[in-house]
Amino acid sequence: MYPTVQMEIPGWHPGLPPKTMGRLSEALSRPAAQQPGWPDATQVRSVSAFLAALPPLVTPGEVRALRRDLARVARGEAFLLQGGDCAETFAGNTEEHVRGNAATLLRMAAVLAEGAGLPVVGVGRIAGQYAKPRSNATDGLGLPVYRGDIVNSAAPDPRARIPDPVRMVQAYQDARRTLDILRSGRSAGIYTSHEALLLDYECPRLVPDPDGGPRLYSGSAHLLWIGERTRQPEGAHIAFAGLLANPVGLKIGPGTTPEQAAEYAERLDPEGEPGRLTLISRMGSARVRDVLPPIVERVTATGRRVVWQCDPMHGNTHESATGYKTRHFDDVLHEVEGFFEVHRELGTHPGGLHLELTGDSVTECLGGVRGITAHGLAERYESTCDPRLNAHQAMELAHRAAGLFGR
Ligand code: PEP
Ligand code: MN
Repeated sequence: MYPTVQMEIPGWHPGLPPKTMGRLSEALSRPAAQQPGWPDATQVRSVSAFLAALPPLVTPGEVRALRRDLARVARGEAFLLQGGDCAETFAGNTEEHVRGNAATLLRMAAVLAEGAGLPVVGVGRIAGQYAKPRSNATDGLGLPVYRGDIVNSAAPDPRARIPDPVRMVQAYQDARRTLDILRSGRSAGIYTSHEALLLDYECPRLVPDPDGGPRLYSGSAHLLWIGERTRQPEGAHIAFAGLLANPVGLKIGPGTTPEQAAEYAERLDPEGEPGRLTLISRMGSARVRDVLPPIVERVTATGRRVVWQCDPMHGNTHESATGYKTRHFDDVLHEVEGFFEVHRELGTHPGGLHLELTGDSVTECLGGVRGITAHGLAERYESTCDPRLNAHQAMELAHRAAGLFGR
């Protein structure tokens, strides 16, 4: 387990009313998992103050549009497709890469829309997916672990691994550039999302509700999710998510009990707003059929309409014989099939997919019709974190998933 840190109470956010500031301070007074050990707290404070003065990346109006779209998903009238890199990188965020990922997502959306006979809501893991939770404090070389470009560098050098808060400014600038690319092309209809992990980056992006509501709008992305490693019920991340007006996602792994899932739903969706909460199950292909049904039943019994989304990636990761972190296409597909089976049996809506993918021709996941083998992984393995489906594998999965609707 990681040590948790106590967040600094921000003194830099003059735009928030005192009562709201109090609620934010309360959330941040809780233990926060997976935060970097910044070497210089004073520097973090000045970077945060600088970030707070920069304009939001997304607007409350756009966030409200996504809320309406996700309400449709929760009611069974639409399908949610979310996907992109495990970890975006500053160097990798070229126009070609951004457009390739967005185009892949849109092509998949078209296939799924046809199969489902429903509109598809497209959300990228994009324009801010820079912070990574890690299972170990050190990597295979014994170096402090890489925590995403927003914190440190993946370069195998101890100095490069020292957390540098100035990277948060570059993350903001790169996210803005990525958004500009999305908005200037055919992919303008894609919403943005990332894991709300790095609280020193997320807090300066909060703005009051322009309509005077009690919740805060994050200008960081349209949708934010809380990861499997930071969903401690009494921790800072869940409290932070509770303050947001944005729709929120929550990753739930196979250790989640039905009771816990219901508590999360009550906590993060106290008003029972359809689509306010997306529960992203990542159970693994071997367990989804056993673990998911009682969770769906228990949450449904609370009367809440959440979006049920399947992440078939994170429960199916293993190391290849050739030493690469990988996933097999068949396991990914098998978990998606299990997810659809569970919802068909319970009469609930299989609301969406959450995938790690890229439009680039990488060789990071095994299998697919082109049959990537353990030896083939070395050919073009570029991810700095988890393995992504390449464009062919992503399209193959979309076609297979499209065939599962209404069966
Ligand atoms: C991720 O989505 O990249 C991730 C780290 O997922 P999880 O929190 O489900 O492990
Ligand atoms: Mn990942």
